[in-house]
Amino acid sequence: MNYQNSYVTLDPRLYNRQPPTALSNPRAGHFNPLVAKRLGWDEDPDLIENWVEILSGNYVPEEFDPLAMAYAGHQFGQWAGQLGDGRGLLMAQVIDKQGELTDLHLKGAGLTPYSRMGDGRAVLRSTIREYLCGHAMSCLGIRSSSSLGFVTSDTSVRRETVEQGAALMRVADTHIRLGHVEWIASFAPDLLPSFTQYMIEAYYPELTTSQTPVADFITEVVTCTATMIADWQLIGFAHGVMNTDNLSITGTTLDYGPFGFLERFDPAWINNHSDYSGRYAYQNQPAIGHWNLNVWMMHFMQLSGKALFNDNKETLSREVLAQCLAKYETSFMSHYQQGICKKLGLPWDSLTGNDSITEVVNETLKLAFELLEFMETNKLDYTNSFRALIAIIDSDSNPYEAGLLKAIDAELDAEQQTIWAQWQQRYLTHLESINANKSEVVKYLKDTNPVYVLRNSMAQRAITKAESGDFSEVDRLFQLLTTPHKQHEKATAEDTTAPDKEAKPLIISCSS
Ligand code: AMP
Ligand code: MG
Ligand code: MG
Repeated sequence: MNYQNSYVTLDPRLYNRQPPTALSNPRAGHFNPLVAKRLGWDEDPDLIENWVEILSGNYVPEEFDPLAMAYAGHQFGQWAGQLGDGRGLLMAQVIDKQGELTDLHLKGAGLTPYSRMGDGRAVLRSTIREYLCGHAMSCLGIRSSSSLGFVTSDTSVRRETVEQGAALMRVADTHIRLGHVEWIASFAPDLLPSFTQYMIEAYYPELTTSQTPVADFITEVVTCTATMIADWQLIGFAHGVMNTDNLSITGTTLDYGPFGFLERFDPAWINNHSDYSGRYAYQNQPAIGHWNLNVWMMHFMQLSGKALFNDNKETLSREVLAQCLAKYETSFMSHYQQGICKKLGLPWDSLTGNDSITEVVNETLKLAFELLEFMETNKLDYTNSFRALIAIIDSDSNPYEAGLLKAIDAELDAEQQTIWAQWQQRYLTHLESINANKSEVVKYLKDTNPVYVLRNSMAQRAITKAESGDFSEVDRLFQLLTTPHKQHEKATAEDTTAPDKEAKPLIISCSS
């Protein structure tokens, strides 16, 4: 691998350099060949041969330089003070095969100075959830961490019960969180200029020549966060713990804990059982992203009047920051609206140059919001309902989707059946009125509406098997989720079935 351990060259107050604490009797869980290839891990015989030893903390290759990062954060809207990597270590930074700076972070690596009351470990259950979900999100085209692989062990870890200790090599462009800046502002404010320079040079190098690099950097963080959250809303993903220490400075989905994918559509859905007020409910995510960015960016006023990369002394007033933050709503809305139009099959790329594009988009949005309301009223499955639209356009060559459409009909009473039939008619009329090409519409529908997402019940089945030493279900789901928009020969009906209408949703504990 092409190592570039740059974080370790920063001021030592920002981290604690230390090795991992080994897990006992480690065993392979799953290895991700796609990530290995991207990193160049698969070109080094030492890494290939020893991956279980490395991921269990029993062997640290000499090019690695492990450290625990300090950060702080707002948790559930309250200032939480110092946090930091309490059970994870940045093991190495590399330039991947696409030329991108990439972090290798071992989660479950043992105690650090930031462990507070925790034991420094991760359990197999949550490790599998993070492993599969990071993979699912990446393959769905949503910016996300993914993982090189995970191991389990004989180290026992106490949560509600005693569980197997595991570790996961998380791979992400960065592990710098909004909370890093909050930590610096509180505990080492003299480091803010150099740390800001580092963030810009490492992750936004094109901004180093700007006359207003800090404001431009803030604007980039605002827009990429807005875009990421728009992607979450579109796919029906609820993160569950959107604290400022769990949001990255590059708009990459990080920290999979009590996350979930919407099944029977309820926008007020809360998937984290510690979230009593529903702060992180699915429908609140866009507003929470805005709230987090607002508390984060205020710290940059300390840099007003300073020059970071050239002689220009940048002004970072409240007004300037407000302008940066104003980009949040516009970025979110344009990305979400474009995305939801595509989920309805609107051939977006053929529309440019169309004089009545605004009307076409508005009419499509109207249909989309009616569809969402209909899904909510009838508690329909979010993923399957969008996928079923394919059969409205062309049921003959899409038997799977025709089945989904039939299943929707079977759930409706007579009144709702009429509403549904009328909606379908207006949908078809709308697409006809813009002369949309049928096969193009179907292509958009297929590319934006997956067959598979990681339903909680799927992850749970893989966990139950894995806890008795059988990782075949993890592997099967890994394959399914690699190409989520295509039907898979190894799929079962359970992979695409929503829970019973009356069943209580599975609520996931924060303990991981
Ligand atoms: P999270 O809610 O998972 O984002 O974690 C919040 C903070 O708690 C982070 O600083 C974590 O490193 C830390 N933490 C979570 N679980 C543990 C654990 N088992 N041992 C030590 N620290 C932990
Ligand atoms: Mg976290
Ligand atoms: Mg976590």
